[in-house]
Amino acid sequence: MFIDLHTHIDQYEPEELPGMLARAYEAEVGVVVASGVTVESTRRCLDLAHEFEGVFAGVGVHPSDLAGDLEQGELDQLRHMATDDSVVVMSEVGLDHQDHSPDRAVQERAFRAQLGIAHEVDLPVVFHMREATADMLRVLREERVSELGGAAHYFQGSHEEASAVIDLGCYISLAKPLLRLPELQEVARALPLEWIVLETDCYPQPFKGMREKWTEPRDVPLVAAKLAELKGIEVAEVMESTTANALKMLRHRADRVSAVI
Ligand SMILES: [Zn+2]
Repeated sequence: MFIDLHTHIDQYEPEELPGMLARAYEAEVGVVVASGVTVESTRRCLDLAHEFEGVFAGVGVHPSDLAGDLEQGELDQLRHMATDDSVVVMSEVGLDHQDHSPDRAVQERAFRAQLGIAHEVDLPVVFHMREATADMLRVLREERVSELGGAAHYFQGSHEEASAVIDLGCYISLAKPLLRLPELQEVARALPLEWIVLETDCYPQPFKGMREKWTEPRDVPLVAAKLAELKGIEVAEVMESTTANALKMLRHRADRVSAVI
């Protein structure tokens, strides 16, 4: 079975979820991690994880969703939720330095505060880094993320950036951009399979028109097939390795996850 290490399935209409998870299971995606982007959506992710076998939760506030510094009350709620049995990662947290993004100092404080919670609860960190590689690597080093492990989610960077992430003991999480970006394909071809995990980052995509075209967890095998093709190996080997890698990253939480696949 595959693991979809990073999704936003809580953003879909609740009535969509049983069908979506059944389609995932049919595609051999047996575990879906639902990651929050705000305190409220984190709570929804926990609810989904409690409701559906195969769904686990990530706790975090996304850098683009920050209206200002995280308040003590919000951090307390995140910390409390992070101790829930259904939570397997601190996510989605990180840095986003696009022009329209929130103030960089605010983002860094929020990221560091959430990494602090990850240390308190001993959670691996699945992080967002967009146009912020240098700052991200600096904060990850300063906040000793190598003690926690984690993954660079929706990775689209260079080989050098991937190597720097791996040097910190974090995995490279590949998603559907691998199907269409030649530069990323070259990077992925050279990456050691033992440092790759898979995800879809799926959320509702009405801009794509037809509902059938929206990304769902069932699309993980497409990414796996492309990776297998690039590396000249069987898809089964990609499944076996990426699932084993994800479980290794989850450390003592892996038992709960592997019990359902
Ligand atoms: Zn995401």
